[in-house]
Formats: sequence, structure tokens, C-alpha cells
Amino acid sequence: MISAQTAELRLSLRRRVLQRAADYRRRVAPLTPQRLAAGIAYQWRRAPLAGRDGLLDPASKTIVVAAEQAPVRQLFSLAHEVMHYLIENDEELLSDLHEAYEGRRLEAALEQLCNLGAAEMLLPQRSVLDSLAESGANPRLIWELAARHAVSQATAAVALTTSLGDDSLAAIWGGRPMSLFFGAGLCAAPRGAVLPPNHPLNEVASSGLPHRGPLKLPGSSARSAWARAYRGRVYLLAEGVQSLAR
Ligand SMILES: [Zn+2]
Repeated sequence: MISAQTAELRLSLRRRVLQRAADYRRRVAPLTPQRLAAGIAYQWRRAPLAGRDGLLDPASKTIVVAAEQAPVRQLFSLAHEVMHYLIENDEELLSDLHEAYEGRRLEAALEQLCNLGAAEMLLPQRSVLDSLAESGANPRLIWELAARHAVSQATAAVALTTSLGDDSLAAIWGGRPMSLFFGAGLCAAPRGAVLPPNHPLNEVASSGLPHRGPLKLPGSSARSAWARAYRGRVYLLAEGVQSLAR
């Protein structure tokens, strides 16, 4: 268990990263790739990156994003790298990060914070909260917000769990056997996790009928989950999610 003080510091880090991202968005909007990079006095270009999404090259002041990815994904990678720059050049954030996390967890926490900030830049929490107030925790918001704001569905999933809170989960499933394309939230299963054949989400995929209610997932259980099929995939938003790890 972590101390209450460390838990508070971690929450405060998330709040401040969201604030930095929102400030950056206001300063450089509209967020074209060019303007995103120019906001930190960098240029940007596409190049093959052999499995990486993006990287920051301080020597040439260039952000490189993976050429093989779709434009919405490249924009997210750009925003992610800008967040690296903003956090790593902020002494206060950096020292709190080192106090709140150690070793391998530090690196993972930094990556998560950069994703959090990138999602906030491209899809402001205000819009997400308005949509949630209107529709409830409806999984259709994953594809609707993505289309409306020209961001990836992964970005929308991250933004939704940020607004819904620490015990929420957003996920996109598909393929045969049905496996996880993308999961957001503290209890999300790893990418590629496979559902057992008799799992209720398989039923959602084959019947097209939504699932609403409690749900067991790989590695976690949800008090309240809502899943629906759309264009061959199953979209899930869940609240009251608990890890099953012992
Ligand atoms: Zn990163």
C-alpha cells in the first residue's frame, strides 16, 4: 500500500498535468501538427520508427512521429511528445514525479501522464463532461467523441475514463477470438487480452444487443458496465471497476 501522502501527490500530479495541457491548448489552438510542435519551438516530421509512436529530438528540436500510423494517431503522438517536453522541463512537476514513483513505475507513470495530457489537449474534459451529462456513461461516446473532435477512438477512451474517475474503464474489443484492441483506465487488461468463448461480450458482438449490468472482465470486475456493438467491434464503458489481482 502507498501512503495517503503519496496518493495525494499522485492525484495532484494528474491535476497539474491536465492544467498544463489545457493551458497549452488555449495558447496554441487550433491544434494543427505544425502549431502543436511550434508551441515548444520545435519542428515535426514523419519517419519510420520501428514500433515506436514518436520521439523528441532535442538536438535538432524536432518531434518525429511514426510515418506508418494514421493521421489522428500521429496527432496524438505529437501531443504526447509535447507533454514529455512540458513535464521534463518543469522542475516542480519532475521532482514531485520522482517523489511519487520509483524505478520502473516512474517510467510507466510518466508515460501515463503524457497520455493524459495529450488526450486533454486534443479532447478537452469540458466537452467530455457535457457529453456524459447528456448521455450517461454510454459507450457510443467513444466513437462519437472521436468523430466529432477528429481524434482517435483511443484518445476518446482515455478522455472518458479521465472524466469518469479512477474506478472507470473504457475498452474496444474485436477480432476472433475477441481480444482487446485498446483499454483505458487503471484496471484495463493488457492489449491483446483474449475473452473466454462464453463471455457476455461475445454475445453482444454476435447478437448486436447491448449488455448493461455487472460484468467480469479479464483481470477486473465492474459493478456497472454498458457494452454495445458498432461496425464489427464491441465498445465498453464501465464504472465501479475493481482489480481481481491478488
Ligand atoms: Zn512517451
